[in-house]
Amino acid sequence: MAFLLLNDKKGEWKMAYDVAAWEKSVAFHGHICPGLAIGFKAAQVGLNALGVARAEDEELVAIVENDACGVDAIQVLTGCTIGKGNLIYRDYGKQVYTFANRKTGEAVRVAVNPGLLDARDEEYRQLRQKVFGGTATQEERERFSVKHREAARWLLELPDDRFCQWKKIDLQLPGKARIFSSIICEECGEAAMEPRIRIKNGKKVCLACFGEEYGRGW
Ligand SMILES: [Zn+2]
Ligand SMILES: [Zn+2]
Repeated sequence: MAFLLLNDKKGEWKMAYDVAAWEKSVAFHGHICPGLAIGFKAAQVGLNALGVARAEDEELVAIVENDACGVDAIQVLTGCTIGKGNLIYRDYGKQVYTFANRKTGEAVRVAVNPGLLDARDEEYRQLRQKVFGGTATQEERERFSVKHREAARWLLELPDDRFCQWKKIDLQLPGKARIFSSIICEECGEAAMEPRIRIKNGKKVCLACFGEEYGRGW
């Protein structure tokens, strides 16, 4: 593992981040962006706090509260993936990540401090508004893309206590991934797992064929 060493101004050299793991995250995600750096840092803080490395099987669980760029770094660093059933997505739109170790029952919740980038660089904040608002000129877009990469780098090198708040928590871990039998949908003929089957006009159907769930708003 290659760690980048940083001088913390008091003349002490300390490990900042695992460069090889960062490069792997960038390759997986497809580009360098501050969002990826946020997920990368959060995973690094979480794994350090738990004292563990990447999960080979289902021993680690990651709960992510957004579906933005950072989740890709979470998958690369922790080895928690949708396919293994140990990456759990909660659609809260929050930069909060929880990591748990099934072996020890320990869990740590990492909440990223808000407004890190905006507080750092007013020009970046304004450029971002223009670029995402669709009003940026070509020149502004190019300037933004340079600043975007700079911001990612800055986040990676940020001390953990400025980056986030983290604490150990008690967590009721979700059960391990289960295997269910398949039922053939009587409408499309495709198989779906049993808990996802509905009854429509007396027929067993998949959710895609079932359409809208009936509800009265409560
Ligand atoms: Zn991204
Ligand atoms: Zn169907």
